[in-house]
Amino acid sequence: MRPPRGRDLELGMGRKILRRDVLGGAGLGVAAAFGGKGAFAAMAEPSPQDQPGYYPPRLQGLRGSHPGSFEQAHALRDGAQTLRPLDTGEHYDLVVVGAGLSGLSAAYFYRKAHPNARVLILDNHDDFGGHAKRNEVVLGGETHLANGGTLEIDSPRAYSAVADGLLRDLGVDPITFEKAYHDRNFYAQRGMGLGVFFDKETFGEDRLVAGLPNVRDTLPTVEAVDRFLAATPLTDKARADLRRVFVGPVTAWPDKSSEVKKDLLSRMSYEAYLRDMVGVGPSALNVLHSITKGEWTVGIDAVSALDCWGFGFPGFLGLNLAPGPTDRMSFTPKGYCQGGSYVFHFPDGNASLARLLVRALVPEALSGKDAIDIVTARTDYAALDRQTSPVRIRLSSPVVSVRHDGPPNAASQVEITYLRGGRTYGVRASKVVMACWNMMIPYLCPDLPDGQKAAMHELVKEPLVYTTVGLSDWRAFEALKVASIWAPNGYFSSLYLNQKVAMGDYVGPTTPDRPTLLHLTRTPCAAGLPEHDQNRIGRSELLATSFETFERELRTQLAKILAPAGFDPAKTISAIIVNRWPHGYAPERNFLWEAELPDEALPQTLARKPFGRIAIANSDCGGGAYTDVAIEMAWRAVAELG
Ligand SMILES: Cc1cc2nc3c(=O)[nH]c(=O)nc-3n(C[C@H](O)[C@H](O)[C@H](O)COP(=O)(O)OP(=O)(O)OC[C@H]3O[C@@H](n4cnc5c(N)ncnc54)[C@H](O)[C@@H]3O)c2cc1C
Repeated sequence: MRPPRGRDLELGMGRKILRRDVLGGAGLGVAAAFGGKGAFAAMAEPSPQDQPGYYPPRLQGLRGSHPGSFEQAHALRDGAQTLRPLDTGEHYDLVVVGAGLSGLSAAYFYRKAHPNARVLILDNHDDFGGHAKRNEVVLGGETHLANGGTLEIDSPRAYSAVADGLLRDLGVDPITFEKAYHDRNFYAQRGMGLGVFFDKETFGEDRLVAGLPNVRDTLPTVEAVDRFLAATPLTDKARADLRRVFVGPVTAWPDKSSEVKKDLLSRMSYEAYLRDMVGVGPSALNVLHSITKGEWTVGIDAVSALDCWGFGFPGFLGLNLAPGPTDRMSFTPKGYCQGGSYVFHFPDGNASLARLLVRALVPEALSGKDAIDIVTARTDYAALDRQTSPVRIRLSSPVVSVRHDGPPNAASQVEITYLRGGRTYGVRASKVVMACWNMMIPYLCPDLPDGQKAAMHELVKEPLVYTTVGLSDWRAFEALKVASIWAPNGYFSSLYLNQKVAMGDYVGPTTPDRPTLLHLTRTPCAAGLPEHDQNRIGRSELLATSFETFERELRTQLAKILAPAGFDPAKTISAIIVNRWPHGYAPERNFLWEAELPDEALPQTLARKPFGRIAIANSDCGGGAYTDVAIEMAWRAVAELG
């Protein structure tokens, strides 16, 4: 990067923040590992995770799908051929491909059923956990934690006995933890709440307005809504529209039954519903456009009105919809927290679940005894892949081929090829669980039936970015009375200060003059297109965006939003982690564009069929981007292998 000048200098683009985003030895090695065009002699490299000081949770810069983790997969997709593997001579009872929550759960369930089994888990990232990613930042001598991906132990469905049972095995009780460790009033008692940033380009003026009542979880008072709206730069018409959305009444379809109304809502987008049935004009729609992005990665134009009602978004007061779901809903009404807790989360999100699973599988790697001390326990990465351990976790090792050593129904074992540090290696296993991204499996297992491969190709995950920013203080937020902000049309559509969850030795945010972490969410998409086309465009954008661009955008956005409190991004920002997930949420069926199908014809049902000694897991083949789905798919896959 050239030395910053002008506006870049003011924003602090040249300031010293740690930008190291590739661990020693975990580099690309793409050309070296593949044959064909561009192949060159393989280099032997020591295993990165065994090197002293290896500790990926503290890395900054581009994380999530970090450089070095995805290039090989893209090369394979584009037709690269792997070199003949070096035979490690290793044989396992089970190899698991993918060390996300599903893969780790699969290893756990398998070992529970076969206590003497030897298991190898392979993952392409430099850390375990998949989307359950820990961001650890030291600010002013204090350790601060955040989730680089999945945060809440939640689901729109009630947790099954399997998923609930695993949480219990790990000592996790979300409801009890919610009361004991999560201080819900931490910001409210300082008068801080939700604000909306109205930007000049869209609304004619840059203005942050604090005090938007929580319209999702509770019914706001008319007075609170009016107070908020009066402070906005909106026209009278837009204010009246939003007032109707927030506090009603809506008088659409007066003669239709609740059942018919729900059916109608399931066939129109939230945007179309608000526009056509509630009479909301373009300006008010602009305020609301991005509120669905955090949950669905797309704006209100691509999410059904019924799902938005189920999720608790406003605009339905007066419709008198009966409680209870319909077949065309992905959410049970207001049932978002039926599994786990919508309030409690570990300070590093579900990375703590991944770490608890790793502790259960490889106790030498993570000391401690319970689901409280896991928060501050430090992983010994060198212990993850020891020859003496019955369970081994091998990182920075993308799998490129998984094939039976004969016809699938008669084969005696499976040969697994993976890349590491520029070399190609082979191991063998009696059984395999593919807990990696399903859309990739056809390239790894080309012998799968064509129908199954076609189904897997449909299960492409949705893109999003969680950015964690270290701040030396949060005085500007306190002065402006905001702890979280919606930014309609902002580069990042929402941001919030780290919540107060103090567990064991972990303290989290304390006072406004002390450091904390800020989360920002961006879901790149292209409004107006069907959801999966929007995702495709967003994914390309994400992969093409440099860290420098993310950094400049977030500094610019924060400077603008917090300007009235004199926020200086050059002085206050001391760390940036961009958790980039081109393959984020598992796709769910969107009835606005996709046909209703019986269960047996759904792509996820077809994708998860066992194939000889290989079973399929990952949340993808459960059709839902949730912890419980990842766990249940693992359990089923293990049960199929017997
Ligand atoms: C930003 C974000 C926020 C989320 N928030 C929540 C939340 O709050 N609550 C919730 O319940 N869910 C949330 N989710 C959904 C989350 O995806 C699931 O809950 C769950 O963690 C998925 O686990 P998984 O093991 O199925 O997949 P993943 O976590 O994706 O794990 C699969 C692993 O396989 C690896 N892999 C892929 N290909 C290969 C290969 N060829 N070789 C080796 N390894 C490979 C991947 O890199 C990855 O590490 C969120 C997801 C994202 C991205």
